[in-house]
Amino acid sequence: MHSPELSEVARGVWAWVQADGTWWVNNAGLIAGDDGDILFDTCATERRTRLLLDAVSVARPDATLRWAVNSHAHGDHTYGNSLLPRTVTIIGHEQMRATLAADPVIDGCPPFWSPNPDWGGVVKRLPDVTVAGRTSVWSGDVRVDLQAPGYPAHTTGDLVAWVPHARVLFAGDLLFAGLTPLAFMGSIDGALRSLDWVEAIDAETVVPGHGPVLSGTQISNEIQRQREYYEFVHAAAEAAWARGASPLEAARELDLGRFGDWPDAERIVLNIHRAFADIEGGEVDVMDAFRDAVALHGGPLRTAV
Ligand SMILES: [Zn+2]
Repeated sequence: MHSPELSEVARGVWAWVQADGTWWVNNAGLIAGDDGDILFDTCATERRTRLLLDAVSVARPDATLRWAVNSHAHGDHTYGNSLLPRTVTIIGHEQMRATLAADPVIDGCPPFWSPNPDWGGVVKRLPDVTVAGRTSVWSGDVRVDLQAPGYPAHTTGDLVAWVPHARVLFAGDLLFAGLTPLAFMGSIDGALRSLDWVEAIDAETVVPGHGPVLSGTQISNEIQRQREYYEFVHAAAEAAWARGASPLEAARELDLGRFGDWPDAERIVLNIHRAFADIEGGEVDVMDAFRDAVALHGGPLRTAV
């Protein structure tokens, strides 16, 4: 297993990349400010979050962490929140706060992964400040823009952090680099639309929510691959729904083609659940959807926590 690494991707901006970015194994980041630093996301478990915070202390021994941003509600980015000092102000989308408040998984993970995640000594900690659209955090002269797409995408409460002086974008799970993307708690069409929005920010460096840091032409290439995947999901789900297939039947019958090479390919059934819910105007039954993912995968899903 690769050790996670805090690497400086631009002056005063670091990416915390945890290979290989599978289930519960996320990326995070750090932005140096003139008057306190800004963390982007925590990790799923106590162990992983402590590694991140230790690396932050080594990189910035004389700095104080003042803010932390949650990209969205999922536990791989938020369960470590409670390990931050109380003096750190946590910021998240207002819908993200509501979703995390209702999340039961930190108190007992359903048996969908192997090994079964051990969160360690973390408790649920919700954002102190919520935003719905766009806001700027200023640390002295350093500005970080927190921006929401304005519609459900990966989830209903996504937030990215744009660091204009360094042209670095922390995209959260609007972008998965080299892994199967996921939008089962958001919207397939919204996730697709958000890729144009991410691309229009015109970053030089993008830290995805999972997978390696992207720069230059890698950014538009990766966005394009993900765009094609969501278009594929949309078309496959519409056809399957029209012929009355269940999400699991639809996924089993589907030839993933080039998308089958991405890790965590079983996410196709979660995405089809979402696409069906989008068509029907309903909600995804998350437990049902995960049972289908385990069935499609032929056993518990892969993780490393
Ligand atoms: Zn994630």
